[in-house]
Amino acid sequence: MALTIALASCSSADKAAAGAPTDTFAEQGAFSADSALAFTKAQTDLGPRVPGSDAHARCVDFLTGTLNRLGADSVAILASKDVAWDGTHLNIKNIWAQFNRTASARVLLVAHYDSRPWADREDDLDARNTPIDGANDGAAGVGIILEIARNIAAQPASVGVDILFTDCEDYGIRADRETEDDSQDSWCIGSRHFAVNSPYSPAARPRFGILLDMVSGKNARFHREYYSQNYAPMPTAKVWAMARRMGFQNRFLDGVGGAVMDDHIHLIQAGIPTVDVIENRAADTEGFPATWHTHNDTYDNLDPVSMDIVGRVILNVIYNEKP
Ligand SMILES: [Zn+2]
Repeated sequence: MALTIALASCSSADKAAAGAPTDTFAEQGAFSADSALAFTKAQTDLGPRVPGSDAHARCVDFLTGTLNRLGADSVAILASKDVAWDGTHLNIKNIWAQFNRTASARVLLVAHYDSRPWADREDDLDARNTPIDGANDGAAGVGIILEIARNIAAQPASVGVDILFTDCEDYGIRADRETEDDSQDSWCIGSRHFAVNSPYSPAARPRFGILLDMVSGKNARFHREYYSQNYAPMPTAKVWAMARRMGFQNRFLDGVGGAVMDDHIHLIQAGIPTVDVIENRAADTEGFPATWHTHNDTYDNLDPVSMDIVGRVILNVIYNEKP
């Protein structure tokens, strides 16, 4: 995804210290960071999941097989075709699953499973031409959602839960090929196709969506993403309020960060207000994490504590959603 503008300056609230969970809050579920890590490693062990590669095809098998094994009511591969900015023909395979299919009130969890074909944020020119592992940028968001699915299957929520693993999110134009008039259209191709050919009738749309992208970096901390705050304020407020109730206000900071072109944009346009939980003002870069689109985006550089916090917050948002 692309970070388009950095909008807000630091507020003093960003420096809020960690607090204890509020007295009245009882956490639900048994989210396991170890399990989320195992779901993540199963992907990165395949190698980069670049569209068109064998690793990508095996990842589709892994994800559909795992969703079926976890007890999804339905698992579908939504296939379509497009052409990338560099002329590559893409066989897009979005993966869409439903748990508690008959519930009329639903929420949608989203992450991309493809990994970037280039490491275009590397300084070394040769290093830019090989694909990245995409551990944080892709695999870990998927891993967290699979672990949430495992929990939902064991202890159903009051609402139905849909899962969308998007394809071809990270095929956007290389940083070293960009020109001034490049649009943002080269990113998020899979979610655009999902939105245009939505499987939802207007009456059956999820109440809201939550997108997880780059949520598992070292000591990850989150600012409310600009488009989410402005065009999906309801789920944005739910996630940040839950983080505060659980005592994680040192990770989910009370401030607006950058504006990110990501999969949530197409879902919002399709009538599903979707919050993008993404580290977009990291402490050291003031933007995306330093591993972004480099060969340092590896499994070993994931932070199990970040995964644990994000997974527990999102799982409890779901468990506290009334039908
Ligand atoms: Zn990316």
